[in-house]
Amino acid sequence: MSFEIVDRDLLGRIGRLRTRRGVVETPLFLPVVNPLTQPIPPRRMLEEFGCKALITNAYIIKRRLGDQPDLEVHRLLDYDGVIATDSGGYQILVYGDVKADPLEIVEFQKRIGSDIAVILDIPTGWEASRERAEWTVRETLRRAEDALPLIAESDVLWVGPVQGGNHLDLVEWSAKSMSQLPYDIYALGSPTKVMEQYLFSTLVDMVMAAKLNLPVNRPLHLFGAGHPMIFALAVAMGCDIFDSAAYALYAREDRYLTPRGTMKLDELRYLPCSCPICRRYDADELREMLKFERERLLAEHNLYVCMAEVEAVKQAISEGGLWELLEARSRGHPALTSAFRRLTEYREALERWSPTHKLKGLFYFDHYDLSRPEIMRHRRRLTTNYSPPRRASILLLAPAPREKPYIRSSDYRRLREHLIGFEELHLCFYAPPFGVVPPELSETYPLSQIEVAEPLDPETMRWTAEETARYIEEKPYEGVILYRGSTDLDSLIERCCREICDSLGKRIWVLEASTPYSEASLRRLREFLKDIFKDHKS
Ligand SMILES: [Zn+2]
Repeated sequence: MSFEIVDRDLLGRIGRLRTRRGVVETPLFLPVVNPLTQPIPPRRMLEEFGCKALITNAYIIKRRLGDQPDLEVHRLLDYDGVIATDSGGYQILVYGDVKADPLEIVEFQKRIGSDIAVILDIPTGWEASRERAEWTVRETLRRAEDALPLIAESDVLWVGPVQGGNHLDLVEWSAKSMSQLPYDIYALGSPTKVMEQYLFSTLVDMVMAAKLNLPVNRPLHLFGAGHPMIFALAVAMGCDIFDSAAYALYAREDRYLTPRGTMKLDELRYLPCSCPICRRYDADELREMLKFERERLLAEHNLYVCMAEVEAVKQAISEGGLWELLEARSRGHPALTSAFRRLTEYREALERWSPTHKLKGLFYFDHYDLSRPEIMRHRRRLTTNYSPPRRASILLLAPAPREKPYIRSSDYRRLREHLIGFEELHLCFYAPPFGVVPPELSETYPLSQIEVAEPLDPETMRWTAEETARYIEEKPYEGVILYRGSTDLDSLIERCCREICDSLGKRIWVLEASTPYSEASLRRLREFLKDIFKDHKS
């Protein structure tokens, strides 16, 4: 296998991709290098910017320099890192058809020494009709099959593109069919327009349609995803490689990339970055420079920002904070917020692939975090894997102690002391956002590694209360004693618990205390319990 996954978070992963020129780590950003004009020489990209891989265009090289014998792409670009070559698919998208034979392009990429190469696909494009889109899927598949004999013995990593554009069922079909073919890397074509027009929610649907139908153990390349503000999103959806010329194209228009979005140089009074360019010059100095000089320096800044954001994403994966990074980046633009919200609709897929334990605790900000894998997982485990102790016929629900893990807190210890003699009680806590937390589970990740922002939003309160009611519904208790505090959440919990107990014919007793863990309140609880059990048993 050429790809090994070493760490994961959400659908994102850190991987090691073995190429004929050595191993590169993913997520991997490939700057697009025009073989004929380069604002930043590729050798500098490697030595100063840490770009261990780049992508250039085999079609352009073939058209301009194809007659030269002994043409070698690393020598041509003066670059020792990993070189990926694109085949001209993008030119098809922009200029219509290209004058190239698909198999010739495959042979050509082998001849010039590409490390990663793409077959000549037919990108679907954005405004393609269904018929056209279907044809691009079929034709790309046919070409991918035709190329198999040529690539079978080669040590190049071959990319099999998935098409379909915004016809999601076609994307699914394309991904399923392409995954039957032995390509080393799969790629999603044509999101360029989506990116330019900020249609990030559509991008989420497109990527997920492809991702969920491709083998997880192969890398996924997202073509043309070059803006650092979408790296976290792309990686969270399981994209491992992205390429783009944005760093250079934006520089040409005096645009300054940041992980939160794009700024126009004219609007900048300050340079919010600490790359070598932004340390050496201020915004006025950049503005006053000659165009070509300014363009080169902006391209350098833009490339630094892209590389730094890849590092930020990797660090987030390794500590288990990709969700938080995604959340932070989603505030860069409303379209990104929409995309983040759209991604929460894929919460089951996110939960399925996320690791069960991470170093970092959870930060809970608002109800969009209810889609986090950790919260989904608690819910699923409580439903399918957890049964209360057999002797416990009555559930005693109490507000969660302030200290975590609950089972080690002094509140818990004191509460237990007041429950001595009531063997039929099963004590559980209710805690936002999880709902019910049995004390014996309170040390499992992430139940005691969560920080919750207050005050809770209404959706979080409703979820917590409904989850609590769901627990009562699912488990075989005869009755429920709710020992509640006096906040809005407590009142909502009481309402939901009463409703579910009424509908199930279970008994419910409620005792309210403004400070549930004070000594006086706990003594009152004990008296309350004595009364209940006197009646209950008689
Ligand atoms: Zn900078």
